[in-house]
Amino acid sequence: MRNKQEEKKIARERIKILFDSADKIFQENPERANRYVVQARKLAMKCNLSLGRYKKKFCKHCYCFLRTGTNARIRTKDGVLIIYCRNCKKYTKFPFKK
Ligand SMILES: [Zn+2]
Repeated sequence: MRNKQEEKKIARERIKILFDSADKIFQENPERANRYVVQARKLAMKCNLSLGRYKKKFCKHCYCFLRTGTNARIRTKDGVLIIYCRNCKKYTKFPFKK
């Protein structure tokens, strides 16, 4: 039986694959890309993982996959990264250090 650490490692790899696949498929099949995001989130929750850098790749309101210039706009203002989702028309803010 695998240990927890091993499980997390595998989950992390699968999350990466899911987001990579979502990125590839997005142009032709955005709905499938969104399903990959949902799967990745479920996986992260199950294994108690943070999605870290992938958090900027989907909308936290409607969980659709986001691509800048296609269905998302990114702006920075006063040390905050603001991502606008064209799908649900909401903003997600990410504070970052200057
Ligand atoms: Zn959205």
